[in-house]
Amino acid sequence: MDWSYSALTTFRRCNRQYYFGYVAPSHYFTDPYRRKLFELKNSKSLHMWQGSVIDYIVETEVVDGLRKRKKLNFNQIAQKGVELAQRQFAFSESLKYREKGLSKAGVGADYCILDIHESQKPYTEEEIQNVYTQIHDVLSKFSTLKSPIDGRLMSNFIEDHSLIIPNVRFIKFEFENIRVTPQIDLLLGKGNKAVIIDWKVSDSDVSDYSLQLIIAGIAVLYTNQQRFGKAYMRSTDIELWEVNLLTQELKKHPFTTDEINQTIDYIYLNADESTLMQKQESQKPFVDDFPITDKPSTCQFCKFRYMCSYLLENNYEYNEQQYSEFVQTTEFT
Ligand code: SF4
Repeated sequence: MDWSYSALTTFRRCNRQYYFGYVAPSHYFTDPYRRKLFELKNSKSLHMWQGSVIDYIVETEVVDGLRKRKKLNFNQIAQKGVELAQRQFAFSESLKYREKGLSKAGVGADYCILDIHESQKPYTEEEIQNVYTQIHDVLSKFSTLKSPIDGRLMSNFIEDHSLIIPNVRFIKFEFENIRVTPQIDLLLGKGNKAVIIDWKVSDSDVSDYSLQLIIAGIAVLYTNQQRFGKAYMRSTDIELWEVNLLTQELKKHPFTTDEINQTIDYIYLNADESTLMQKQESQKPFVDDFPITDKPSTCQFCKFRYMCSYLLENNYEYNEQQYSEFVQTTEFT
């Protein structure tokens, strides 16, 4: 059974949001309702958009450049980030993602769906310019970003490693028939030492990412021990770092046997819920099988807010034209 922290978190937040985001979306145009859920799932607020462009450029221009031992010009990289964001904005604004011949994979990095366009939300030119400015600022300041080693810049710290892999999605661990495949922003390695870096682009400090980082650490530990034997790597050989690109703050998360055991227990204890989620998925469920949240504050930030209300008002019948009118005429407070 595949266990996913983000799927479980979404399921707990709201069962129906989980259905909209994980169960029902389909990129095929043959089913307009499921296609619309795919578009909503992939839509981004301005804040998410800004973060996703920065993440993408850090992965493809900064880390990849350092991996290839290139001399980087951070101002040029920052400009590339802004140009990518401008192309994404134009793609979203022209609603090209609704064109049948265009796929997300085919379009590549320029593919973008912004909620201001999808849900026709009001926005100002100033808000868009702020996004471009932030993207440029954050990317150009990568040149001065500190690293886990005092006095060493992050770019030099990355180059110090022989193994540099951005956006890792293939490392997993398994126990008791449960398989966990975390996504790792950056994995660095030198000999039997590993550093896991999680990039953040947020000015609020309320979320706790320790569990996600520990899960990533377990996957790296498990993979190395499987390949080279248990004595090759221990938890003390792995460091977990959360790096905030916006505030330039670094936070080290503990990774000890205690944290590992507690996390394994957590996954195991929540496995029943994950099994239930997957069982419901395999039975071709209906939206009504997934109850809505009883905490209205959750809905405020939900991508599926319009669809959720529309279906409730229309006896779960979806009509593309009616839905579009509903979005244009409905205002949430
Ligand atoms: S709008 Fe609220 S109830 Fe509906 S899916 Fe989103 S979080 Fe759940």
